[in-house]
Amino acid sequence: MSVMPLIVQKFGGTSLANAEKIHRAARRAIRAKLEGYRVVLVVSAMGKTTDKLVDLAREVCSDPPKRELDMLLTTGEQVSIALMAMAIDAAGHEAISLTAGQLGLVSDSAHTRARIQRISRERIESELAAGKIVIVAGFQGTDDTGEITTLGRGASDTTATALAAVLDGTRCEIYTDVDGVYTADPRLVPQARKIDRISYDAMLEMAAAGASVMHSRAIEFGAKFEVPIYVQSSLTDAKGTMIMPETVGMEAIAVRGVTLKEDLAVVALNGVPNTPGVAARVFAEIAKNHILVDDIVQNMYDDGHFANLGFSTNADGAGEARAVCERLAAEIGIERVEIDEGVSKVSAVGLGMRTHTGIAATMFDALSKARVNIDNISTSEIVISCIVRREDGPKALRCLHEAFGLDKEPDDHNVMS
Ligand code: ADP
Ligand code: ASP
Ligand code: MG
Repeated sequence: MSVMPLIVQKFGGTSLANAEKIHRAARRAIRAKLEGYRVVLVVSAMGKTTDKLVDLAREVCSDPPKRELDMLLTTGEQVSIALMAMAIDAAGHEAISLTAGQLGLVSDSAHTRARIQRISRERIESELAAGKIVIVAGFQGTDDTGEITTLGRGASDTTATALAAVLDGTRCEIYTDVDGVYTADPRLVPQARKIDRISYDAMLEMAAAGASVMHSRAIEFGAKFEVPIYVQSSLTDAKGTMIMPETVGMEAIAVRGVTLKEDLAVVALNGVPNTPGVAARVFAEIAKNHILVDDIVQNMYDDGHFANLGFSTNADGAGEARAVCERLAAEIGIERVEIDEGVSKVSAVGLGMRTHTGIAATMFDALSKARVNIDNISTSEIVISCIVRREDGPKALRCLHEAFGLDKEPDDHNVMS
């Protein structure tokens, strides 16, 4: 007997903010079940619960131990799975809620930023086979010793796409408070347009560069296992955005979207002895401490005897980065460690950059006309990013959106990037 197709539906915090919204989400899941799908629901904590729990932890302790922070934050999702199961039960359908530990979602032990290592199919599949809708707590994992972890802020998306991948899902549906992926954050750029279809590569870069509508690791799972990801509104039936494999013609649009990443800090190591192995040593130590590294810049001075080595990292990890770098500075003989927490990054992303020229020139020209100073520039195949002062970020984003004509319809509706 052939099994029914499976879909994963994920609901974010604002889509679960009160009892009525939980019932609305439950109805979506039930509708999919009645259409003949096996349904796995992934839910986030209700409304702003996670933020409130973080604030509470900081009230109690200025630097909460990461293990305990994970213990605290995962309670948010546990509230949601239980209430969702009750809502489905109240509607006359069978459901079961599962934590990461119960279903067997194993991560590494890096508290607050753990990575998924494996997911067991058994428990979920047997519950589905019994006809239940399975509700999974997003954002959490357990390590090999049973310790509770979290997968990074916004990572319920990643729980969802990873489950869709492991369970051979037909599709992963992400329900959120916007009706799709836009050319820029619509809260910051009112002229932003909804994108109908976008490739995994472009979406991955947009997410990594600050488009918080999707967690970037979620796209990695989708891409690797080719699970289509559909982002749509939890409140309306408006057409959303399909994130899918690249197709012919995608490179026709040079810039697909622009993003702003605000939670950044730049760490500068000044007066680094410029000898082989020093950069390797620095970044090995940074990696060992699970400090995220965004862009790296190095330049030499004093006839190449010394270098200034800088990298950007998440602002909430800046204190830890400072501690690690100061320790290194003392060991290696680095002159000075400076941390600048007043920066943001604006980026332009598009597959078309592979073939179009002049994108960087347009970007720098637009920023200069808007009188935004560029602290730093980095580029990769399909992204150009500039570090700017934090207060200039929103203005920079809006001027780039206009400069790349993103407020206008693309000429060819079938092209993607
Ligand atoms: P959820 O709680 O459903 O996971 P998030 O707050 O994580 O929701 O993500 C949705 C938000 O992402 C939107 O409200 C929007 O402000 C923001 N966002 C940032 N960049 C984009 C973009 N390019 N397109 C759509 N939304 C974006
Ligand atoms: N509740 C978690 C957060 O706020 C995970 C998520 O929403 O994806 O970061
Ligand atoms: Mg989110």
